Amino acid sequence: MNKEEIAQHLMVMRVGTVRVDEPLKRHTSFRIGGPASVFVEPETLDGVVAVLDWVRDEKIPYFIIGQGTNILVSDRGVDAVVISTARGLKGVEVSPPRIRAGSGVLLTKLCHLAAKAQLTGLEFAISIPGTLGGALVMNAGAHGSAMVEVVESVLVWDAREGVRTISGDEAQFEYRQSRFMHYPWIALEAVLQLRPGNPDAIRQTMQHNMEYRKRTQPVGEPNAGSIFKNPLPDYAGRLIESVGAKGWREGDAEVSRLHANFIVNRGNATAKDVLTLMRRVRREVYRATGIILKPEVRWIGPGEGGAEATWENLWCEEGAGLREF
Ligand SMILES: Cc1cc2nc3c(=O)[nH]c(=O)nc-3n(C[C@H](O)[C@H](O)[C@H](O)COP(=O)(O)OP(=O)(O)OC[C@H]3O[C@@H](n4cnc5c(N)ncnc54)[C@H](O)[C@@H]3O)c2cc1C
Repeated sequence: MNKEEIAQHLMVMRVGTVRVDEPLKRHTSFRIGGPASVFVEPETLDGVVAVLDWVRDEKIPYFIIGQGTNILVSDRGVDAVVISTARGLKGVEVSPPRIRAGSGVLLTKLCHLAAKAQLTGLEFAISIPGTLGGALVMNAGAHGSAMVEVVESVLVWDAREGVRTISGDEAQFEYRQSRFMHYPWIALEAVLQLRPGNPDAIRQTMQHNMEYRKRTQPVGEPNAGSIFKNPLPDYAGRLIESVGAKGWREGDAEVSRLHANFIVNRGNATAKDVLTLMRRVRREVYRATGIILKPEVRWIGPGEGGAEATWENLWCEEGAGLREF
């Protein structure tokens, strides 16, 4: 089936908006990325499930996107059906001490709802951009806490077993990773378990976290958050700064002068610019410290030579990747 036929079928399904050759730079915080051959925004949870069932049955490659704040999309785009959670997975139900929310709900919105319901536990997430779904997959975290601490259960679409509920434990959250990265699972909604808290203390912590973010990160420029994972217990930002990389530039991609583990798009940066800069940073940190930085941002697109869309194919993990340096 070609992309027009796929789009036609999705339109007949009447699940929501369908577009062909949609530029993904419109849907990423980096403002980078070529077109998705088909882009669909289902209006309901059932619509999301119907699209997922259909693409699976037809063996059409698919990819799910939240707010696009943690991805670097290839300049060549993605030859797949890209499914956005932005519209269809928006439900929220607050029943203290729990919040049930759709994967397309913004994390910041959930923080404000929790504060309003005098629930504590989610203050760390106030300035993490993106959706609940993206935060689950990435086990997003800040200020010493992460999603793992608040997720009770997740309603998932499992390509093999259909829609079912998994526990937080089954999601196997670890530092910036989860089982979602290795299983054909899509998060549809989640139940967060919080605790009754003092409303003033909750608001003060949120305020403090927001101010800290504004001081330390280039929030006004297009970026995708931390580029590399921290090689714990060290910090990627410290290592990158130690090799003098702040301000290094490739095309319009620049290592942030405010926070060295951020790359900012100064105008018309391409994915190629960002990749080239990432390689340079990674190589120099390796030469200076022997530490190989691993990307936190997720690569979406073909690997070099048209292989699968993973960093492994771009860089061949670990030592093998060093051959490219
Ligand atoms: C300025 C800035 C600051 C940031 N600060 C932090 C921070 O402090 N801590 C932190 O952890 N992150 C941070 N990030 C990264 C990012 O905000 C988080 O990783 C966020 O949780 C991603 O959510 P998203 O909706 O944008 O996901 P996307 O970028 O759209 O997707 C990320 C990954 O999740 C997958 N995905 C998305 N939704 C679903 C779903 N429903 N089911 C299955 N898979 C899904 C996508 O396929 C992709 O692989 C920052 C980013 C920016 C731009």
